[in-house]
Amino acid sequence: MVMKTVNMHKGLTLTWMGVAGIYLTDGITGLLVDPYVSRFGLFHILSGLSLRPDRKRIASWIGSQGAGDVRAVFVTHTHFDHAADASDFALALDAALVGSKSTAILGAASGMRDERINILPPGEEYHVGEFSVRYLESRHGPILGNRYLYPGEITPPLRLPGPAFRYREGGTFSLLIRHGGVKLIHHGSAGYLPGMYSGIEADIVLLGLAGRGDTHAYLENVICPVGARIVIPLHHDNFFRSLVGKKTFPLLPGIRLEEFRKACGVLPAPTRVVEPAVNEPVSLRDLLDRP
Ligand SMILES: [Zn+2]
Repeated sequence: MVMKTVNMHKGLTLTWMGVAGIYLTDGITGLLVDPYVSRFGLFHILSGLSLRPDRKRIASWIGSQGAGDVRAVFVTHTHFDHAADASDFALALDAALVGSKSTAILGAASGMRDERINILPPGEEYHVGEFSVRYLESRHGPILGNRYLYPGEITPPLRLPGPAFRYREGGTFSLLIRHGGVKLIHHGSAGYLPGMYSGIEADIVLLGLAGRGDTHAYLENVICPVGARIVIPLHHDNFFRSLVGKKTFPLLPGIRLEEFRKACGVLPAPTRVVEPAVNEPVSLRDLLDRP
């Protein structure tokens, strides 16, 4: 039995993996959200080639991060850049896969056993170690005007590996993750439902930037309601390019990162933008203790 301390976020670290992928651990239990390291090239995607998860890269990422403590892998929507590697991470780690019905179909088609697959309806809590995770209904970012690629649900029979269009959205969700008094929101896709955060507070928001449209409206609907002190941008890297051996990352074209930083600087409540290096653990206690 591990002794619980008052400072439950002591030792809590966050590692950004690129795109919307994060690894959270308290040193005893870890979880992953949207892990995606295969990073298929644009030509590969547009040519309709099969997306076969790069198991060597997945194993190497787990080994280099010492992420053997991961007990659950969460998927926020089932587009390939969030979900293509999730089942293989879960299989490699003998972890549970958690998400929508489309996530469950993806997991089964990837060879996961039914008992390791969990459909989590919005509003219900999933507990893993000292973490609790709740799905909140959200909306996908509008990449092409008001539209985006591959909407709708994944329906069986799903054959994998397959091309990008088989990875339909399956609904888009944000996650409220709690651990010993620390509250984080993972908002991985840049749409939102007005009012989705009413009555919810969070210290930190991990915020997807790709396809966000009006930045001020986005921040007003996601950051302001929850009163976050810290915003960590996600999904701003060019996910068609590999990150193997890299400490820095190429930005997605048109991501307007400087405009985003400035918009955060004029929010009514002081909000710090923290931009972690890719694959470098960040202590959440250090972040939150800094004034
Ligand atoms: Zn998407």
